[in-house]
Amino acid sequence: MSKNLKIIFLGAPGSGKGTVAEKLIKDYDIVHLSTGAIFREELTNNGPLSEKINSYLEKGELVPDDITNELVKNKINNIHDNRSIILDGYPRNVDQAKFLDTFFKVDYAIYLKISDEVVIKRISGRMTCPTCNKIYNEHFKAPKEPGICDIDKSLLVKRSDDNPETIKNRLKTYYDSTFPLIDFYKNKNCLVEMDSGIESDEVIKNIKELISF
Ligand code: ADP
Repeated sequence: MSKNLKIIFLGAPGSGKGTVAEKLIKDYDIVHLSTGAIFREELTNNGPLSEKINSYLEKGELVPDDITNELVKNKINNIHDNRSIILDGYPRNVDQAKFLDTFFKVDYAIYLKISDEVVIKRISGRMTCPTCNKIYNEHFKAPKEPGICDIDKSLLVKRSDDNPETIKNRLKTYYDSTFPLIDFYKNKNCLVEMDSGIESDEVIKNIKELISF
């Protein structure tokens, strides 16, 4: 098993970055860092930055770079050098990518490509189990009992930013700020484009065919 792979996941909200990363780390020794998850954890723990972070999350805007960059750098610095890492949701604009470049060499930028229609259906129907983190969808992958996790019977929750108004803004933010990163990484010859409008298991199969972890 090769080690020390540095991978980033690019893609619109709802493109499957978190789902695919969570499934991959079950099979390989990879650290999964999701900036969105880190921010949500800060809110749950009522951390010192929670009010500020929440004001951006609820609008579907990016948390300012100074907060995000420092947080990501600290997390990466605490990971042992030879471990493989997936960054999910970072970088999300060109300035973040340039900052990342100063201390992290990206081997693969995996672009999970998906249409806006599928994104909206996926996000609006998304529900997560707070206990085991399994993700369901009212439209595609409903739990056996509505609103209840099949595995541990916990009450499923919706992310507060998964509402129609915020979803619209998150998509706008994606096209304005994050989409230019496709060309940024294409120019660095490490961009890999993957159709992500299909079942996540299929996406993972395609990724595994391409990258030897
Ligand atoms: P999604 O990709 O579905 O929008 P995430 O969990 O990746 O979900 O992100 C949720 C929110 O967290 C974003 O809308 C944004 O407010 C914030 N966020 C996540 N990553 C970053 C980042 N790299 N820079 C700034 N804000 C971020």
